[in-house]
Amino acid sequence: KLHNTILELKGNIRVFCRVRPLLPGDEGYNTEEPSVLQYPNSTELLGRGVELIQSQGQKHAFTFDKVFGPEAQQEDVFVEISQLIQSALDGYKVCIFAYGQTGSGKTHTMLGNPDDLHQRGVIPRSLEQIFKSSQSLRAQGWNFQMQASMLEIYNETIRDLLAPSNKVDMTSKQYLVKHDNNGNTSVSDLTLIEVTTWKEVSSLLHRASQSRAVGKTAMNEQSSRSHCVFTLRISGLNESTDQEVHGVLNLIDLAGSERLSRSGSSGDRLKETQAINKSLASLGDVILAIANREQHIPYRNSKLTYLLQPCLGGDSKTLMFVNISPEAKSVSESLCSLRFAAKVN
Ligand code: ADP
Ligand code: MG
Repeated sequence: KLHNTILELKGNIRVFCRVRPLLPGDEGYNTEEPSVLQYPNSTELLGRGVELIQSQGQKHAFTFDKVFGPEAQQEDVFVEISQLIQSALDGYKVCIFAYGQTGSGKTHTMLGNPDDLHQRGVIPRSLEQIFKSSQSLRAQGWNFQMQASMLEIYNETIRDLLAPSNKVDMTSKQYLVKHDNNGNTSVSDLTLIEVTTWKEVSSLLHRASQSRAVGKTAMNEQSSRSHCVFTLRISGLNESTDQEVHGVLNLIDLAGSERLSRSGSSGDRLKETQAINKSLASLGDVILAIANREQHIPYRNSKLTYLLQPCLGGDSKTLMFVNISPEAKSVSESLCSLRFAAKVN
């Protein structure tokens, strides 16, 4: 109950930090060098604190709603969010974001390996849970309908990742975002697919990743330069009570947060980087404004926040993962990510 009150005060925004393990090929892998990240183990901070140590020995301490160290498995992470996922079936609008530099584990956290029972990430686990729960709610008269969509926002332009391949045409389709008075969002021409089983979702994820890969060669590693938004719209009707629920689950793999200087951009690449910076900053501004209960929430400053407007703020629920790479060379990017996350937390 107390926990609920705290969440209320924060506008239902939570921040989880996840540090991935050092991997073969990473600088410092398998060496005895001390880690640049530490986890305070006082009773008060256990599982919630993380400290970043810069090369000069400067220590930066952060506290989040939860901190997952390198040993945390996909299922350990999911245990902490399964209630949030469940609330989408109860009619809430839920957004889960993964924020961090390229290579920090965003896609691993959100998608993982969908076909591997242990390596599955948030998207496959969430859908499995939702399908299971909706099945068991049938006994109480509930019938659920679910529609999935998947899109990418690149340079402030929406691309449908589920469009039939012969229909991919970025010029003629507008993908206009519209909000109606009931808080429902529609995107013109966006492919919506009715899903009832994991098998259907799995084939849809494969289709989306193929579509992303096509864009990648055409558009210069687009996947790290674009936001990927998976949306599940849930409608439930109870036959015996006539009760209705409408929930939305948005699972968002954000574009890499690395800063301009590092990518040495110019020309189109510079424009692209500026678009990413702008939309990530806008997202931070929106979440911060919601958390501070400000009158004006600047949703219109980016395509991402405009698209998600009805699902951010109000009584909707937001969770941000800040993904961190443990490599010593990433310390300054990690510090930026942790500061960004601490600001919205
Ligand atoms: P991003 O999407 O942020 O660019 P990825 O999710 O692709 O990063 O992760 C980069 C690499 O690290 C991938 O090979 C991924 O499998 C691996 N990885 C990320 N997080 C973990 C983790 N928690 N445990 C094991 N491997 C991980
Ligand atoms: Mg990725």
